[in-house]
Amino acid sequence: MPSARLKMIEDQMRRFADLPPEVFFKEELLRHGLSLGPLAAPDGSYQKKSYFIFSFDRTPIGQMPQQENRRAPEEIALLGGPYGLLRTIVSVRLNPSSPYCLETDDGGIVLRLEGETLCQVEFPPEPEHYRRTLRNGKPVSEIAPTIEWGYLIYLTVFRRCQYVGSDQECRFCDINANFDQQRAAGLPYTTVKSEEEILEALEIIAATDTRSRAYTLTGGSITATLRGKSEADFYAQYAEAIERRFPGRWIAKAVVQALPKEELVKFRNAGVRIYHPNYEVWDERLFTLLCPGKEQYIGRQKWIERILDAREVFGASCVIPNFVAGIEMSRPYGFTSVEEAIRSTAKGLEFFMSRGITPRFTTWCPEPLSNLGSQEPAPLEYHLRLLQVYRDTLAQHDLAPPPGYGPPGAGQAVFSVSSFMDVLEASAETPAPRL
Ligand code: SF4
Repeated sequence: MPSARLKMIEDQMRRFADLPPEVFFKEELLRHGLSLGPLAAPDGSYQKKSYFIFSFDRTPIGQMPQQENRRAPEEIALLGGPYGLLRTIVSVRLNPSSPYCLETDDGGIVLRLEGETLCQVEFPPEPEHYRRTLRNGKPVSEIAPTIEWGYLIYLTVFRRCQYVGSDQECRFCDINANFDQQRAAGLPYTTVKSEEEILEALEIIAATDTRSRAYTLTGGSITATLRGKSEADFYAQYAEAIERRFPGRWIAKAVVQALPKEELVKFRNAGVRIYHPNYEVWDERLFTLLCPGKEQYIGRQKWIERILDAREVFGASCVIPNFVAGIEMSRPYGFTSVEEAIRSTAKGLEFFMSRGITPRFTTWCPEPLSNLGSQEPAPLEYHLRLLQVYRDTLAQHDLAPPPGYGPPGAGQAVFSVSSFMDVLEASAETPAPRL
């Protein structure tokens, strides 16, 4: 007899028969997190979770007596099993009390749901550069971790955000609290990474790695200045230095606030090809409540206008705002029905896609150290319907999958924090237009 949860998933598979089976388990793992269970201590030969910006965990690391945070893989690949899953890459979000658990079986690792085996699991191979340190002793994995099964080098050059406190921080975000917990746990967590550190780490990656295709320059918002520089000047200096040393070696992406065109030009001139002015949530009331800093410093209307203006700088296909999928249903402010939440975000997708812009998602993980705190995630049904709406709206506007995310399609997508790339038709990666 399958458990009630597995029965629910199988019911949803029948109801959403147009979605690939892989995404049901991927979204479940992203919503609930994963327990490492009694999995034997690692032999050190796989890529460990780097805490590349937020915790993306359902449990604070102080409440992980088994120190799961130190042995968790960055991602897992699901494959095979009774559902015949194609290879599916999923980011690991730790939750020691999750119903989803990794266990060893016959020498391999399997994913189980309340005792039921769902599929085999593989861990990402440890990149050569994860065994190396910089001249100052910092691990390369701290300065330039990779995610998406090695596709993306994630450069969080500023590990805090200047939106501070409950009246400014995005309420779903634990960037500042995560910084504090990592430091308290004694982990090397660099507040501001220097240009020299980044370049030295990239030298090592360039010499040893064949999997990385893109890098993201990111970090918290800068509302005033950081080290005497505005947000655009601060983040663009890294792109300039990287592109000077490694011209065109990787697709350069930047996540910063919705800035005016004249500021964005600095990024383009530095070599950045893809711009992520993360919008987070479409509904006007929820944007104000959940993103109080964005509302205070820029405002929703201006945020939208600047996203549209950015098309003139990067080209529409390279302006890719993130939506935190599921945050529309968070307590206490969110929609209480799946219907309303979908209707709202569908409007946002239609608004941007009808103007040539392809948003993307990160599936919301209720992080206990964020302002919203620990709570139930949005229902699975919400995520499934959202994936359908995304796929259909993209097709309706005849848009290609966003560039800079690797190839789309079940079995070949590498984007690990949402299934939006897994539900699109399998094809070659969309090329990022040259500047
Ligand atoms: S802008 Fe919001 S989501 Fe981004 S780091 Fe700051 S608080 Fe977090």
